[in-house]
Amino acid sequence: MRYAETGFNLEIDLSRGSIERVETDPRLMELYFGGLGTNAKILWDRVPPEVEPFSPDNLLIFSTGLLCGTPAIGANRTIVSTLSPQTLLMAYSMMGGFFAPELKYAGYDKVIIRGKSPNLVYLWINNDKVEIRDASHLQGKGASETAELILQELKEPKAQVAAIGLAGENRVYMASIEHGRSSASRLGIGAVMGDKGIKAIAVRGTKDIDIARPDEFIELCNEVLEYIKARDDNPIPGVMPILAGLGSPQEMKIHDEKWHTTSFMWGNARTRRRDFWTEEIEEKWREIQESVRTRLISCYNCPMKCGAIISIPGISTYMMKCYSKLTYTMAAYSDLDFGFKIAQRATEYGVDGFSTPQAMAFALELYEAGILTDQDMPGMPSDTEGRFYWLLDRIVRREGIGDMLANGTYWAAQKIGKGAEEYAHNNIKKHEQLPLKLGMLNPVYFLMYCTGEKINITQIEGQFPQEPFPTREEREAFVKDWIQVPDEKFKQYFLDWEPRGEHSNPYYPTVQMSCEIVDWMEMMHYIDDALGMCAGLSSFPLKPPYHIHNYPAFISSATGIDIDEAGLSQVAKRNRTLVRAVNIRRGMRREDEKPPEDHWKKRFPELEEKLLDEYYKFKGWNTEGIPTKESLHELALDYVSEDFIKRGILRDTETIPTKATSKEKEKKEGGGSGP
Ligand code: SF4
Repeated sequence: MRYAETGFNLEIDLSRGSIERVETDPRLMELYFGGLGTNAKILWDRVPPEVEPFSPDNLLIFSTGLLCGTPAIGANRTIVSTLSPQTLLMAYSMMGGFFAPELKYAGYDKVIIRGKSPNLVYLWINNDKVEIRDASHLQGKGASETAELILQELKEPKAQVAAIGLAGENRVYMASIEHGRSSASRLGIGAVMGDKGIKAIAVRGTKDIDIARPDEFIELCNEVLEYIKARDDNPIPGVMPILAGLGSPQEMKIHDEKWHTTSFMWGNARTRRRDFWTEEIEEKWREIQESVRTRLISCYNCPMKCGAIISIPGISTYMMKCYSKLTYTMAAYSDLDFGFKIAQRATEYGVDGFSTPQAMAFALELYEAGILTDQDMPGMPSDTEGRFYWLLDRIVRREGIGDMLANGTYWAAQKIGKGAEEYAHNNIKKHEQLPLKLGMLNPVYFLMYCTGEKINITQIEGQFPQEPFPTREEREAFVKDWIQVPDEKFKQYFLDWEPRGEHSNPYYPTVQMSCEIVDWMEMMHYIDDALGMCAGLSSFPLKPPYHIHNYPAFISSATGIDIDEAGLSQVAKRNRTLVRAVNIRRGMRREDEKPPEDHWKKRFPELEEKLLDEYYKFKGWNTEGIPTKESLHELALDYVSEDFIKRGILRDTETIPTKATSKEKEKKEGGGSGP
């Protein structure tokens, strides 16, 4: 009997047109849980490092997490993994909504797709009946429109659909996979879906998921619901409204955008507008938001209502969550109503709301600087908003200048030359980051930015406040009910952290403390990503309902496997290391692990080197950031060290890497994986 998981994956080879239901090894669940953990294992085993993102041999995996489909509140994430055309490393992007639970109810833990279809197709997974269906009539259709048409065609309104728009079809590196109430957007996974020739996946499931100890499990779920209610009634004082509660950043509920609009940069990470937020703006933005937001909505089995239905006269209704409304608004130095309007078109095209506005603002900055000229932008309107729409239309079609911009700012700058690289200044590992430029180096964030495998800070941070509270009294009040800490010492670290003086950034938290804090935050994200839990209820917000102390009981009662905190942390560490191993094998090294050049004004090269040195040691990695043979052995990842040794990445007797792989990487960068 398999508990929590179905025990079956769906294997689809689009080149051969084959569909197989394959039973999985139950030991994999014990070692990696599921979700991101088993995705990384499959990519490691089946996709050698020579494979390019747009090769038929690349896999595109849609995975449920271990707890998806169980009554665990918020366990609804679909974890999509593949090789990213943007970074050339492993991509894993997650979406909420209803897709993963439905897939579990259809009887599958994952859909693993390889090969390429000669024609555009969609997959229809209806419990045991699975079909590859023609999608030629859906070519060029928007992502939401595609979902609507498929539901009508199948006459199955309860099916869940994940689809790409024009951007995915045209292999735009910032293409997303859209799923009505959510999307998996980062790192170009929609481009890989388009490259494989899949327009959409529709799924309908009506089976049950077995739970090992149901009474105990339901009791735990009720405790989580009670906690959510209590936290909802008591937002954390002293934290900006957007982070004072639970859920994904509550942009759809909250109008107070002071923090984002004055702390984040406008344009392509260009200017900070400290005085932007006034009473007048606040009132205007409240009116705009309330006039377009028709209702708040949640993902499967969650009371948090992080998303909203947006209805604007003259354009189709769509769903928005998080802060796409701001990314377009701020990139274009425009108004909130512009953000709401352009986001509808961008959602239909299926593009990432972080990278796309930055690529467009980047193009306009190059134009202002004379690096791009009228010849590059024939027919471009004269107003900024008009230019954004014009650029968006060209990017998703890869037309003219849009063809270069469609590869993101890093690759576009390489191709454009003439100093354009200076303007692509907000990337890590070739990927756009949140547009922030801050004053003093924060050692914890330095480590997260440099070493995060997701290459996206919101999927690494959480748990520990982003900055010290001004007074000791406030800090004392904060730590009083801080039950989520894995160790009491974290309370002391926070109590002693001060905005100025000896105990402030960059030398406090100390190097050792910074390593421990990052490790804790990262551990929680890796647990969530294996369980399919929404980070908004666990790893992302302060004082969440799920944490290291109650997760073992959830997992044990769901699966019947007895696991304690130490065992859970070991699985998280194993998964984290395996994702890194995939990237190391693809050539990632210490030289790649740096924040955007001007992310902080005040930099401390010696301290930064020390932070990386100590963090690598803390994690059991060598000076190049490669997990050592010993640390891999401790995590039962000997197969990784054997492969590293065979490839010359590690030596059998010591752990210093050879230079060969870095050279291979240079060759790859210069030789054609990019645009
Ligand atoms: S917290 Fe928000 S984003 Fe997360 S599952 Fe609930 S509604 Fe969805």
